[in-house]
Amino acid sequence: MGHSRKLVVAGLAVAALTLSACGSGSTDAPKVAAKPSLEAGTTMAKISAAGKMKVGTKFDQPGFGLKGLDGKLTGFDVEVAKIIGGAMGIDAANIEWVESPSKLREELIEKGNVDLVAATYTINDKRKKRITFAGPYYVAGQQLMVKTDNTKIKGPADLKANPDQKVCSVTGSTPAEQVKPYLANPGQLVLFDVYDKCANALRTGQVQVVTTDNVILLGFVSKSDKKFKLVGEQFTKEPYGIGIKKGDVKFCEFINKTLKDNSAAYLKAWADTAGKVEGAAPAALPPAAPCV
Ligand code: GLU
Repeated sequence: MGHSRKLVVAGLAVAALTLSACGSGSTDAPKVAAKPSLEAGTTMAKISAAGKMKVGTKFDQPGFGLKGLDGKLTGFDVEVAKIIGGAMGIDAANIEWVESPSKLREELIEKGNVDLVAATYTINDKRKKRITFAGPYYVAGQQLMVKTDNTKIKGPADLKANPDQKVCSVTGSTPAEQVKPYLANPGQLVLFDVYDKCANALRTGQVQVVTTDNVILLGFVSKSDKKFKLVGEQFTKEPYGIGIKKGDVKFCEFINKTLKDNSAAYLKAWADTAGKVEGAAPAALPPAAPCV
């Protein structure tokens, strides 16, 4: 390609970006398909015809799913759900958000209380027995968070030698299970239903450690006024999936294709939310896993 042609192409790309930025305004409004062509009888066609969608997400996790005092949801999971809804012609205003604590996610999907769950939801075999996962759309890793002045805990290997250091996590989460081999005794683990209760317990000194995915913890660090820090390496892999009804392969494939086709919106969603938090690695859409 000649130099001048390259410049023209680059110029067009900038113009297109500017136009689309003007068109979409903010992350509140990802692309909404005017007349999506969806196979009759599929979940996508049903959601599209209903003109609304129910999404299960977290309400207490900065950067991923956080309900503001104005009632608005913000975060990467929220934006990813909006991209998926947009491909079915669903405007963000027509998404009903349903709080989905870790332990309740499979049940909410099975009962049909939500059309999908986007909630820092690790894909694993145990959960795949009850639901189907689209994705992964991000890969996090489990880590530890302590108060900035904590010098005892530098990583999971220090937990056994310090049984007085209580570790908080959430019921029904993968980190609550995966931390167990590192503990001195079962009583060292304190479980709540949501992570902001763990963060509060850390603040008040009821627990000394919080463990879950690094990117969730980074969100709490960013809101802690430098009172919290992450320690140690990531010691697990947590690939995030979109939870849907078990066996809905067509919906799963549709979600995977939608995320792949909307890579610019996906990257923008990350940059506008969890990507803003210091220490968060850039997002790159991982290859989709088979839909089963
Ligand atoms: N990704 C982990 C899980 O799905 C931890 C985060 C969470 O509890 O949502 O269990």
